[in-house]
Order: sequence, then structure tokens, then C-alpha cells
Amino acid sequence: MILTVTMNPSVDISYPIPHFKLDDVNRVEAASKTAGGKGLNVTRVIKQLGEGVLATGVLGGMIGEYIVQELTKNEIENNFLKINQESRNCIAILHDGKQTEILEAGPTLTNEDGSAFLAKYETLLSSVSLVTISGSLPKGLPSTFYRQMVEMGRDKGIPVIVDTSGESLRQVLLHNVKPFAIKPNITELTQLLGREVEQSISSLSQALEDDMFQGIEWIVVSMGGAGAFVKHGSDFYRVTIPPIDVVNPVGSGDATVAGLAVALKHKQPALVVLKTAMTTGMLNTMEAATGHINTANFSQFFELVQVEKIDY
Ligand code: ATP
Repeated sequence: MILTVTMNPSVDISYPIPHFKLDDVNRVEAASKTAGGKGLNVTRVIKQLGEGVLATGVLGGMIGEYIVQELTKNEIENNFLKINQESRNCIAILHDGKQTEILEAGPTLTNEDGSAFLAKYETLLSSVSLVTISGSLPKGLPSTFYRQMVEMGRDKGIPVIVDTSGESLRQVLLHNVKPFAIKPNITELTQLLGREVEQSISSLSQALEDDMFQGIEWIVVSMGGAGAFVKHGSDFYRVTIPPIDVVNPVGSGDATVAGLAVALKHKQPALVVLKTAMTTGMLNTMEAATGHINTANFSQFFELVQVEKIDY
């Protein structure tokens, strides 16, 4: 089973309002509310791929209850730490072909909450064979929190995939105990290195030679419609994908992480790992719902992904 971690989940509310009026009343006919947060997108796609998955993290209040209800309704096993504060809503207003987002910060956790979660995580580790950690940390937890979780996984011989950004990612990478895989995009790479990274093979290979990436088995730099650039051990790969009809690209990175996790869990060869991760990313892009794929299209698009090993 794969354990997915979402430390700051949300109820994602989408309000389609074709002509949004500022400083006026806007009525919504068809609001949609789903359990959200990057880790829960990963969870749904893993489940759709037919793989056993257990969702954990921290939640609370009525909103937390709603998230648990949604997961249970979708038959997704879950075991979250419940806290005495309300989880967050994240609102997307879809108007005039644009998307305006209002994102609550969510609860501020105490040191006790952090320790209680780590105790739960330690227990859950004994029943899983791979972990994914996605998204940002809630307020109140130290930026070294994910790094500690990677180390706890490593101590038990469990590979951990980390998909986060900013200081938490930097802390993970600066530690001598490394995650098994990471999936930055170019913006995250640029932030980490403090210099511009281009989509060229030379710029990307040079970036991934940086000391902070040494010892990470898989580094998948996702590049939207341009596919991915990957470092696996000491090998580099350029992965290209066919042009597709983009419906909603939000959550494609999470779907990529889901494909990566499932293929790595099954110890697939590099070629299959990369083709699976790109296919699940593409399939998410082709659907309206975030963190959702149509598995019926899997084989067709899997065949169209091209993987080229780079001599560097
Ligand atoms: P997000 O934060 O929305 O989850 P991300 O920046 O982490 O996204 P992307 O690099 O945009 O991730 O997308 C991940 C993968 O999804 C890509 O490598 C690709 O396989 C697929 N994908 C994303 N956008 C497109 C697109 N426009 N056309 C085709 N495939 C896409």
C-alpha cells in the first residue's frame, strides 16, 4: 500500500460565474465542492490506477469532517490526525475565461500537534511500502518537518517521494538523508538554485548536478506540455509527450507523482516509470476534474510518450 501525506488539506470550492461582478451580488448555480490539497489529488489518481492507498495528514472541524466523508464516499482509506481547529476552504471563481483564487491559510499547528502527527506517521509506516508527501506545511510546523519524515521513512527502508517547494523542499535537500524521488517544476528549480534554469538539456543537466541533488534516486523535472527532464542515478533522460487537448492542467503535477509512485512501488524499469508518470500527468490535463484521470485512455497515451537517454 502507498501512504499519501497531505498536511494542510482543504475543501476546494469552485464557483463558475461567467460574468463576475465586483462590489455586487454574484449568484452561483452549480458550485462544486471536493476534498482538495495536492496530496489528495495524488491519492485519487493512485486509487484510480487500482493501487492500494492510505491517506494521512492533519485536519479538523466541520471542514475536516467533510473531507473525511468525501474520502470515505470514494472508498479511499484514510487515517488523519484530528485537531481542534477548522481545516481550510480554497475557493476558485471561474469567470470570463479566467480563474481567481481565494486560498485560506488554514490552521496553525502547535508543537504537540506536530509530535502527535509524527507518532501516527511512525505507526502507519509499518503497514506501507512507499510514501508520497505533497504540498505545503501548515503554519506552526518547522520547515524541517518533511525532512524529519523523510528520515523516518528511510530508517524503515521505505522510499519517500517529496513534492513541495520553498524552504521545506530546501531543508529536505540539504539533509544528508535524501528522499527517493522529487518532482520539481522549472519554477521550483529556479527558486531552489537562486538562478534562472532554462528548458534546454544543457541548462537542466547542469542544474541537476548541483550538490543538493546528489544521492536522490529520481529527480523528475516536469515541464507541462514539454514533458519532463529526468535524472535517475547518474543517467539523464529527456521525456517528450504528444500534443493533447488540454481541458484543465491543474493537478497534473500531482497526477504525475501518482503515476511515479505506482510505477516505483512495482519496481518497474526506468522506461516504464517515466512513461507511466507522464501518462498520468497528461490524462489529468485532459479532464475537467482536478486529480482525476480516465484510465481507459492509459495505454493509448502511454505508447505515445518518448524517452531518450541523454549522453552528458
Ligand atoms: P501542478 O502544480 O498544476 O500540479 P506542475 O507544475 O507540478 O503542475 P506540470 O509540469 O505542469 O506540473 O505537469 C505535469 C505533467 O502533466 C507534465 O509533465 C505532462 O506530462 C502533463 N501536462 C501538464 N500540462 C500539460 C499540457 N499542457 N499538455 C500536455 N501534458 C501536460
